[in-house]
Amino acid sequence: MLNLNRRTALTAIGGGLIAMRAGATFAQGAATPAPAGPFKLDPLPYPADRNAPTIDAETMELHHGKHHAAFITNLNTALGDKPDLAKMPIRELLANLNTLPEAVRGVIRNSGGGHANHAMFWTIMGGKGGEPTGDLKAAIDKDLGGFAKLQTDFNAAGARQFGSGWVFVVLGKDGKLAVQNRPNQDSPWMDGTPVLFGNDVWEHAYYLTYRNRRADYLKAWWNVVDWAKVSDRYAAAKTGKLAV
Ligand code: MN
Repeated sequence: MLNLNRRTALTAIGGGLIAMRAGATFAQGAATPAPAGPFKLDPLPYPADRNAPTIDAETMELHHGKHHAAFITNLNTALGDKPDLAKMPIRELLANLNTLPEAVRGVIRNSGGGHANHAMFWTIMGGKGGEPTGDLKAAIDKDLGGFAKLQTDFNAAGARQFGSGWVFVVLGKDGKLAVQNRPNQDSPWMDGTPVLFGNDVWEHAYYLTYRNRRADYLKAWWNVVDWAKVSDRYAAAKTGKLAV
């Protein structure tokens, strides 16, 4: 990442001083700037301490500024010279994985999936928990047996995910909500299935605060969900307008 940014800075500005400053920024451990390229790392939509104490600020900063940023860098490295692919929406890349050139399938599955999963993840947190309302609540009651049962089933799916992965609530092709868990950075978008919300059960998502206690993290996580944002995603998903 450092080399890429140095090269980009040198190319863009033609001077060594800025590149040296960029290197110094990395050395000090400051927030990683968004890597140059067709894929961008949007800033967190709220301060890094917004989800504390459920998720500590350092975890948020590392998770967004290092882990998510690395997916963006990997995508830009792999697709920077493939403009036809780089201009496709990420959900289309994931949904068409098997028809893409074999050389890029791995990076799109892992880093493209990681980008999609994390882009969703930041936006549905920053809230105060509570319970869903309106159409979303009605769908949860009808399809998932109510909010309490959803929480129980979702936490169980997250707990039983062996190794790293995610637990999601998706809008299935039958129009019904469903709980799904997926390994690694696999995304339901790989099946063309919109994600309403999800929780990251990779250790990097919780280890600084919860250590090995994934179940405690899963239980506490509901305190920071922004249900208004999830409702917006549900409305967009129903009309095929959900971006990722
Ligand atoms: Mn993660």
